[in-house]
Amino acid sequence: MSNILGTATAGVEVFAIRTGSVRIRENQVRGKGHGRRRLLRTYTGVAWSDWLPIYAWVIAHPEGQIVVDTGETAQVAEPDYFPSWHPYFRRGLEERLTPQDEIGPQLENRWIDSRQVRRVVMTHLHTDHAGGLRHFPNSEILVEPREFALASGLNGRLRGYLPNRFPAWLRPTFMKFLPVPYGPFERSLPLTDAGDVVVVPTPGHTAGHVSVIVRTVEVTYFLAGDTSYTEALMLDGQVDGVAPDEDAARDTLRRIRLLAEREPLVYLPAHDPQSADRLLAKQVVREGRGSGLSETVASKAVRVTGFQERHDAIQ
Ligand SMILES: [Zn+2]
Repeated sequence: MSNILGTATAGVEVFAIRTGSVRIRENQVRGKGHGRRRLLRTYTGVAWSDWLPIYAWVIAHPEGQIVVDTGETAQVAEPDYFPSWHPYFRRGLEERLTPQDEIGPQLENRWIDSRQVRRVVMTHLHTDHAGGLRHFPNSEILVEPREFALASGLNGRLRGYLPNRFPAWLRPTFMKFLPVPYGPFERSLPLTDAGDVVVVPTPGHTAGHVSVIVRTVEVTYFLAGDTSYTEALMLDGQVDGVAPDEDAARDTLRRIRLLAEREPLVYLPAHDPQSADRLLAKQVVREGRGSGLSETVASKAVRVTGFQERHDAIQ
């Protein structure tokens, strides 16, 4: 643990904000095959996933609140919100939420004024993470520069981003990683003076994807964005159907497993039906700790706590 930064500050808490539900094709949840074919199968597959949560997170910190991702906007229900020419939005995605499900009203319910939030960190810029940006006109919006470039313009729209829906005022602060390792991650960026909130690059689902690590006295939270859709898929090293670079995605999942061997890690993907329960229970990655992962243990984890079972468990 020699290269783990910072110490835990007392009183740091993480809250889950659920901004509606999404379903995607099963072939996106678990990529089938490789290369172009894997990407195409997310459009051509017929089986839907279950309805999955869309989580954003609030880190309540003595140095100021930090929001991680902003969830979705209820505007997705408007007929022209998504470009009808794009096969992904025609075929690959369905979402459900009301205006009250958006992050702004939900923070208000917790007596947090979204306009007072100091900083917002974006794991990536897909619509179900960036849809709530309009609630944070006064915040510093932190984005990985490559992610912003890839999301911009017509090419961004071809890649499945909706840059035309970003707020007109958006002038992100670009995060520049330092050559300072955090565990298995070679570069990192501390967000607090205490060094207990740290961003690390987690390319895979998108090339500029990042995750946010929050060290508390008892456990370390890993706000994972879309590095995988469930903990079981991370343990299994399963790449999704849309990641542009399969090797990068697999390498990121490997680093997360390594981190889980070093620290009591609570892994919190944005769409895992079990994320909120794990957060509340401070439930650390089970198979990640100790002697390392064996194939058998990893595949058993997938069988026991696979997608359907997890969903059924909360019905
Ligand atoms: Zn995404």
